[in-house]
Amino acid sequence: MTDDADIAPGRVYLVGSGPGDPDLMTVKARRLLEEADVVLHDKLPGPDIIEMVPEERREDVGKRARGERTSQQYTNERMEELAYEGKTVARLKGGDPFVFGRGGEEMVYLAKHGVPFEVVPGVTSAIAGPGVAGIPVTHRDHASSVSFVTGHEDPTKPESAVDWEALAATGGTIVVLMGVGKLPDYTAELRSAGMDPETPVALVERGTWPDQRVATGTLDTIVDARDEAGIEPPAVTVIGDVARERQRVLTFLGNDYGSENGEDEQ
Ligand code: SAH
Repeated sequence: MTDDADIAPGRVYLVGSGPGDPDLMTVKARRLLEEADVVLHDKLPGPDIIEMVPEERREDVGKRARGERTSQQYTNERMEELAYEGKTVARLKGGDPFVFGRGGEEMVYLAKHGVPFEVVPGVTSAIAGPGVAGIPVTHRDHASSVSFVTGHEDPTKPESAVDWEALAATGGTIVVLMGVGKLPDYTAELRSAGMDPETPVALVERGTWPDQRVATGTLDTIVDARDEAGIEPPAVTVIGDVARERQRVLTFLGNDYGSENGEDEQ
């Protein structure tokens, strides 16, 4: 809010933008987009939200910004640099900043470097994606727990950080983020862990975006459904009996996202 470098550092807000529909942003996130001196964002918030910020106040720090890979280190240092210029910075992240968004790392970096920060939670795609597709992540009759897992393991890890066998044993809903590419691998893992191959599975692509799409199937058929529909990231995978609820309510499901609700049924 001032350019005087001698004064106390500005504040960094780690802001969740929600799943994509600007109407699903928090009031606080919206206010920060209006008031922040600089908005640092990647692609995940989606064009509708990013374009609410005038170009001169936003910087793309996404992985493929400026035709090269932007490192996490660059983002961290840029937040710090702007704060020490006294700027109010909104670090805008898709969904909730602390759900698979590296927000945790960014927060610790800021604290270590003496930068005051605030966390502004957002509506995560892990719940909202299934939700707008008519899939409640818990349900009194079918699922008394839900697990959020990454489908995209860090390849440098010596062994899988996700225990699919243990997840299969919970009997609860499994929501996989970053799990389009590895869908064949983890559905196979779940089947070999003894999960019923008929377990319903749904893929929600670009949940709450104008071009949202949904593909449905079972543990056995979902890979074919993905390929047939050409589902691409960003998408969430919902595995569990709750995914069947969509079929039961589809006729009356009034969410105004995408045009393909109803075209995905086999
Ligand atoms: N912090 C984010 C998740 C970041 S990881 C959140 O809370 O939503 C990126 C993954 O999020 C994507 O690979 C995809 O699995 C999921 N994702 C984000 N936005 C999405 C959307 N609108 N629809 C479906 N999946 C989405």
